[in-house]
Amino acid sequence: MELTIKDVRAQMPNYQNYKDWQRNGPILGIGVHHSATANRLTGAPIGDAATFFDYHVRTNGWSHGGYNYVITGSGEVEYALDEKIAAYHAGFKDPDNSEGLEFGQYWNNHYLAICMAGWFTENRTYVDAAGRTQPIPNQYTRPSEAQFNALVALVQQLRQKYNISIENVRGHRELAGNSTVCPGLNFSPAVLRDKLRELDKPAPAPQPPAGQPQVGQGEHVILLPDTDKYLDAALGYIWKFQPDVSFAAGQAVGRWKYVTAVGNEEAISSSQLARLREGGALLVQRIPGNPTAAQDTLDKLVAQNLRFLVAAEPEPEPAPPPQWPTYTVQPGDTLSRISQQFYGVSTLWRLIFEANQDVLSSPSVIRPGQVLRIPPKPA
Ligand SMILES: [Zn+2]
Repeated sequence: MELTIKDVRAQMPNYQNYKDWQRNGPILGIGVHHSATANRLTGAPIGDAATFFDYHVRTNGWSHGGYNYVITGSGEVEYALDEKIAAYHAGFKDPDNSEGLEFGQYWNNHYLAICMAGWFTENRTYVDAAGRTQPIPNQYTRPSEAQFNALVALVQQLRQKYNISIENVRGHRELAGNSTVCPGLNFSPAVLRDKLRELDKPAPAPQPPAGQPQVGQGEHVILLPDTDKYLDAALGYIWKFQPDVSFAAGQAVGRWKYVTAVGNEEAISSSQLARLREGGALLVQRIPGNPTAAQDTLDKLVAQNLRFLVAAEPEPEPAPPPQWPTYTVQPGDTLSRISQQFYGVSTLWRLIFEANQDVLSSPSVIRPGQVLRIPPKPA
């Protein structure tokens, strides 16, 4: 999807005080958060970078807000804190560094923070002015489609920029040392990672039109008689299909699987083409004619997205099963007797048995009414 990012960095509180700060170490991952803010009457996500940063700075007393990016409930992406600055999003107390995570600053130092506005857990409550706990309606307890799509697009862009592995795209609760349900029990970081894996899969290679061989890079050459006119005639074709180009038919033997030879017999002889076939080429095809006629043919192939005039030789059809005469077993028959009847000798009974394995389980057991195929007598 098209990702639109609104740059609000300079509008955040205290921007001038911290704008030149640098994070401590490289960016290795992304931490995903929710804001745990919801409209008390509807449960809808509320808040944006300005409100979150205002709270972090003026209420919490931090020097800047806690996220690099904020995605509003409607899916708008705000760039709020420069990526080069560590966001305070997943730090934890570890005074003696017993966790070995940079005294609790590992995630802040190395993970970008993205916060989705919203509260993605059921049965949320708030405390009203009289100090009573009140429920927030259980609506909007998952990111909106627009918000999720924006998250995926933003994560992909950041992964590409910093070469971040899918495994290092994590929910806040998956960051060791942090005790939280963020980004909400209804938001599964594993589902997000599955989505990223799906997007990372390379698109399947386009299939050639029916009947056209699948040609790999470097497997196809266009052979041109040694004149500029033929090169001009083939330029459109070369541009479209990107074959190798050669002017030396004699040196092409054994080098390419697919050969398109341009020009008449006097330009490239049939015996040269035969040598290419003998040298192992799967398909050697002539585009006959003078440069004008050849260009006409090549341009038609380009227009039809056909690399070759005709399909490569189809696989030969398997031979149909032989039509053998049949014989219906009579009372008192044995295979030897049937052999005698058809071949003039009783000893060829095995031939009949082997031709009728689908009907007979033993050469000594045949029943009247069984229909047996009788193979021809061996020469
Ligand atoms: Zn969080």
